[in-house]
Order: sequence, then C-alpha cells, then structure tokens
Amino acid sequence: VKDCLFCSIADGGVDADIVSSTSEVVAFRDINPQSPTHVLVVPRRHIDSVAALAAADRDVLADIFDVIASLARDEGLDEGYRVVTNVGPDAGQSVPHLHFHLMGGRRFSWPPG
Ligand code: 5GP
Ligand code: ZN
Repeated sequence: VKDCLFCSIADGGVDADIVSSTSEVVAFRDINPQSPTHVLVVPRRHIDSVAALAAADRDVLADIFDVIASLARDEGLDEGYRVVTNVGPDAGQSVPHLHFHLMGGRRFSWPPG
C-alpha cells in the first residue's frame, strides 16, 4: 500500500533493523523500544489490523507465530515474553499495518495501563 510505513519497510524502501525475514513475514526492531527485546512482526502483504483478518490470512498468521516463537528462543526470553497487537484508537494503534509486538527481557505488569 502506498505511503504505508510497514509496507515500505517490508519492501526495503525504508530502512529497519531486520531480525527475521521469510517469504510472508518480516520482523524488525522497534525504533522506540519499551523493553530490552522489542520486535515488530508484520505480514509483507498489507492488512490493516487483526480486525481485518480473513480466512485467507490463516497461513500468514501461522507463519507470524512461528517467527515469534523462534525469535523468542533466539533472544533468550526463557523467563517469558509478551505479544501485543493494538487495534484502533482506544488501544493506541499508530501504524495501520498489522503488527505484533514481541516484548521481553523485563517484567511486565498486568493489566496494562
Ligand atoms: P502501535 O502503536 O501501532 O501498536 O505500534 C507501532 C510501533 O511502531 C511503535 O512501537 C513505534 O515505536 C514503531 N515505529 C514507528 N515508526 C517506526 C519506524 O520507522 N521504524 C521502526 N522500526 N519502528 C517504528
Ligand atoms: Zn502496509
């Protein structure tokens, strides 16, 4: 999608610190990390958010969670980690391209603020 930041990162038009890349999924470090590990995992193909997922997206979702589990191992998050996806203004979604935050390396509170 034109003028979509994460489409541009996925196609190489905008630089990012990419930590994992498959045919369907790209993962890169968040530019403003909120934990020692803070990686964004996104589909290459534009999807607005989890609210826009369709049956045809099942395979890419499975790939996303494979990448998340593999990165969590690579990053040594043996004590646990958090996976977050924000949808819309109440949740604070600021980039309208589906992304999962993989966060770890510190203790998180629950419920979130
Ligand atoms: P959201 O607020 O939509 O859930 O998450 C968007 C995330 O994208 C934020 O954590 C923000 O720091 C990150 N972000 C925004 N712009 C860029 C960028 O240009 N590069 C990278 N690597 N992350 C970005
Ligand atoms: Zn996009």
